[in-house]
Amino acid sequence: MVRLLRPDQEELYNLWAMLGLVLIAAPIVVDVATNLRSRGFQGTQFFMDQVVLLAILACLASGKYVTGATVALVLVIGQVLEERSTLGARSAIDRLARLSRAKARRRNADGTEEEVPAEELAAGDVVVLRPGDTVPADGTVESGESSLDQAAITGESMPVDVAAGAEVFAGTTNLTGSLTVKVARRGDETVIGRVRQIVQEAENSQAPIMRLTDRYARFYAPFIILIAAVVLAVTGDLDRAIATIIVSIPCAFILASPSAMIAALATASRLGILVRSSTIFEQGHLIDTVVFDKTGTLTHGRLRLESIEPFAAEGKKAENELLQAAAAVEQHSTHPIGKAIVREAKARELIIPESTGIEEHHGRGMAGQVRGDGRVLVGRRKYLRAEGIELPEEIEAEKAEDRATTPVYVAANGRYLGQLNFADEVRANAAEVIGELRAKPSRIEQIVVLTGDRQAVAQNVAQSVRADEVHAQLLPEEKHAVVDKLRAEGRNVLVIGDGVNDAPALAHADIGVAMGALGSDIAIQSADVALMEDNLARLNSFLRLSRRVWQVIHQNIWFGFGFILVLMALSALGYISPLGAAFLHEVSAFFVIFNSARLLRFKG
Ligand code: ADP
Ligand code: MG
Repeated sequence: MVRLLRPDQEELYNLWAMLGLVLIAAPIVVDVATNLRSRGFQGTQFFMDQVVLLAILACLASGKYVTGATVALVLVIGQVLEERSTLGARSAIDRLARLSRAKARRRNADGTEEEVPAEELAAGDVVVLRPGDTVPADGTVESGESSLDQAAITGESMPVDVAAGAEVFAGTTNLTGSLTVKVARRGDETVIGRVRQIVQEAENSQAPIMRLTDRYARFYAPFIILIAAVVLAVTGDLDRAIATIIVSIPCAFILASPSAMIAALATASRLGILVRSSTIFEQGHLIDTVVFDKTGTLTHGRLRLESIEPFAAEGKKAENELLQAAAAVEQHSTHPIGKAIVREAKARELIIPESTGIEEHHGRGMAGQVRGDGRVLVGRRKYLRAEGIELPEEIEAEKAEDRATTPVYVAANGRYLGQLNFADEVRANAAEVIGELRAKPSRIEQIVVLTGDRQAVAQNVAQSVRADEVHAQLLPEEKHAVVDKLRAEGRNVLVIGDGVNDAPALAHADIGVAMGALGSDIAIQSADVALMEDNLARLNSFLRLSRRVWQVIHQNIWFGFGFILVLMALSALGYISPLGAAFLHEVSAFFVIFNSARLLRFKG
């Protein structure tokens, strides 16, 4: 405007432009300075503000104040918009935080109800939930019946029915009935609180490919200065040198991986797939072998007690006594076998005696002191034998292949009491999911089934899902030995299990996936990937998403690289002005962001 109004006052015009340039550049200078101080020169080499500053200084030094100011303005506005749009993807993650910041209707001791913020709840408080309320904390239903929408955590939109005794989770929505819920955990200890923490950690983890580019980063700025200097020396045109510097600002590079990761994490958490670190996505596309745990993963894990065979006596009474003794110990177990035993004992309306001194040996069995029975052992043959129990000859002789049920043996006070036989069903979609794993785009080459169960049962399951390999009668440590062996053969192994008694095998895999993790803290904490919903098909979603993330990051990086090269060449040849360079630079950054945002639309 000064130039329009006072064409004669060139000096004044330049002064104003310089003032503008300094004003816009000041925050960038401060930013670079603080970064230099906190991270050292090494740490800031790839910092794009440094290159921005270089361009601005060049303008300042050469007296091209107006160019400098406009360029800086375009870059700063661009940066704001970039941050905004990455924040757009972030909002999906922030949604998690909002969900657990709900209001709660607390019922006080005197029977009155009071509305309080969720963070003010304490364990043991009773809250009332009306239809439409968000569950404010994790807890147990005390009374009422309703259905809950758990999509916020599991990604599954089918409502879940709950009644007294059921577990409910913060962040889910009460749909139909009124409930009173006793608070067990609140805030960060809730499932959704953990999820939020893990997603945040994952967001901050750096993808391997980014670490690679970081290694070369410190050569970047000197290299660019060198090129700009050559351009200046050869052409004698400062504008060309400045344009060259501006187009070299590596925004597209810097955004390539984080923008894709944030979008992928947001999408994953929408689908109820909890990913511990963004590196997992990069490993995900390499997976060629999938190892399934049988019980609870390929099968429903809801065992049926098919028959009870007391050893010394016969009849209902002997059966019930055997069941009672087993249930006394198994009431402390979360294993499907334990649950099935307790369920059956309750169905028969038996009194389950208390037990003390519980020992749970994963993949083997359990022991505990039961009044009237002494030390009761429940578990597989190997376990009872190791505990010094003498098994009757016909049990020892019985060939594992004879039956298609899973037996568990019971002993008390050093004497063998009898066996319980269980059956489980293969998940309806197991064969289909495995078929999809083998097909494009995942192309899994090897499907392996591991189980502590007997051969005949394992073989049946493996056949029905068409697995390539099956290993039965494994102890937990033997399971991870199989995983180690596969990896030693050069395979990239994903292990999927329930995350509780399979934790060692999951830990030995390239990627450990825990299924049905909702309500199981150990699973969420121990696995690389936790599928909140008890749905095998999510494994496919995860592998396909990994592939997409990997593709998008590579597209971004190659695009960013190519775009910079082309623009630098054009700038050096004088086709691009500094201002044009600033605009084109923003175009490249937004291309990357929009490319990454495509991941948000991934359907799973
Ligand atoms: P899977 O490999 O099929 O998931 P596990 O490794 O969990 O099976 O268990 C293997 C075997 O160990 C079971 O078939 C059962 O015989 C025994 N077992 C494990 N946990 C328990 C338990 N809590 N009570 C009784 N037996 C158990
Ligand atoms: Mg298991």
